[in-house]
Amino acid sequence: MGKSHLKLIILLMFSLMQLTFAESRPSIKELKNELLRRVDQRSQLLIEVSDALWEYAEIALLEYKSSKLLIQVLEKEGFEVERKVAGMPTAFVASYGSGKPIIGILAEYDALPGLSQDSTPYKKERIEGGAGHGCGHNLFGAGSLGAALALKGLMEENKIPGTIKLYGCPAEEDIGGKLFMARDGLFNDLDACIAWHPDYETKVDVRGSQAIDDMEIEFFGKTAHAAFDPWKGASALDAVEMTTFGINLLREHVKPSVRIHYVITQGGEVPNIVPEHAKLWLWVRDSTRLGVKNVRKRVEEIVKGAAIATGTSSKIIYKGSYHEMLVNLTGSKVMQKNLEMIGSLTYMDEEVAFARRIQKETDVKEKGIISEIKELEKPTKDPEGGSTDVAEVSWITPTLNLSTTCTPYGIPWHSWAVVTSSRHSIGYKGMLLAAKVMATTALDLFLDQNILIEMKKEFKDKLKGYTYKSGIPPDKKPPIRIKKKSAI
Ligand SMILES: [Zn+2]
Repeated sequence: MGKSHLKLIILLMFSLMQLTFAESRPSIKELKNELLRRVDQRSQLLIEVSDALWEYAEIALLEYKSSKLLIQVLEKEGFEVERKVAGMPTAFVASYGSGKPIIGILAEYDALPGLSQDSTPYKKERIEGGAGHGCGHNLFGAGSLGAALALKGLMEENKIPGTIKLYGCPAEEDIGGKLFMARDGLFNDLDACIAWHPDYETKVDVRGSQAIDDMEIEFFGKTAHAAFDPWKGASALDAVEMTTFGINLLREHVKPSVRIHYVITQGGEVPNIVPEHAKLWLWVRDSTRLGVKNVRKRVEEIVKGAAIATGTSSKIIYKGSYHEMLVNLTGSKVMQKNLEMIGSLTYMDEEVAFARRIQKETDVKEKGIISEIKELEKPTKDPEGGSTDVAEVSWITPTLNLSTTCTPYGIPWHSWAVVTSSRHSIGYKGMLLAAKVMATTALDLFLDQNILIEMKKEFKDKLKGYTYKSGIPPDKKPPIRIKKKSAI
């Protein structure tokens, strides 16, 4: 037999094997149903993980117990975990599988300070002065875990090629853990990324988010006795006041999409000493990075002017900046189909009563729980106020966002009402739905190459040649926090 014949036979055998393999694999519909079953089978585990994170209620960069628990479950289920990534002890990347495509799933688990709350439908502090999951990140972490576990089992059993990467992302609420993870290139090899967030509505989220600059402005003056020889002093507080006055005048001359907000973090010690040091913590947001940059320039001029006028000197420290979210409509449509295929959540009378009680307590309309699946919205040029570090990922790889109903409708966010909903069946139902939608969407990306090609095309078009640049300097280290012994 000639060499060419042998080659032909091998090729034929390979094609036949491929065909048999594809035929032996269940249909995509069957695989998706299997994924839903796999999430349901693990519902108890996911609720337990969610409740544990809720009880730990660890704030930004102190999520030691929370990340440890997630890692434990992932390793037990066969994921390989890289710990302490991007210089953060509570950040990790858990991987399963091999080769392309590589699909990322984001998990968050940090709580908010001062929001400790019992699981009651009225305000009741659980631990005095403690933290609480006022943004539902306990559900976020456990829901993403659920998607990763269900996918892993399915891929293993059906020999589906590709890699899942679950990103343990700390400190969303404070320093923005993903900012450091993005700067250090942790998302660079992804073909796409999927995230979700608890909400009081169920929708594929194409609202986008605002770009932001986070800065600290310091003034240095001269101290003097405020009554005996004030002419010898130069007040750093005066400079802060002139800066805030200038900023408040500036508000009239910026686009309506701009948001500027600040707190005075240092303004002197006592009234009889002219303050020689004062500090302002300021955030500037707009719909685009460019918009933020323009306002920032004006703020810098105001700071300079305030320093000249008060005889002080100034320093601006840029703490970080986020991009606006780059929405990927192609992938969002795929996610929408999966959300509609799974269907909206239903509730029992007790759950609705619980929701109404929370609404009554928070002075919002007693509409109960709204779980109907919203139609895919048209992305707006000017997103609603708010920023997230998920946006950083969206400039590195096509990123999809989902919101599911985890709380009563319309309740104030970052409040006790979200904390209590996040340890309730209302929250659990939203979390399990999110796990199912993310898993089925990831499966589409693993099995249908065309979707990824189209998503990447849209992504490239929207980048317009821009290459992601991190908003933090290359040598800036995350501010590591050490847990006090008593708090462990
Ligand atoms: Zn959040």
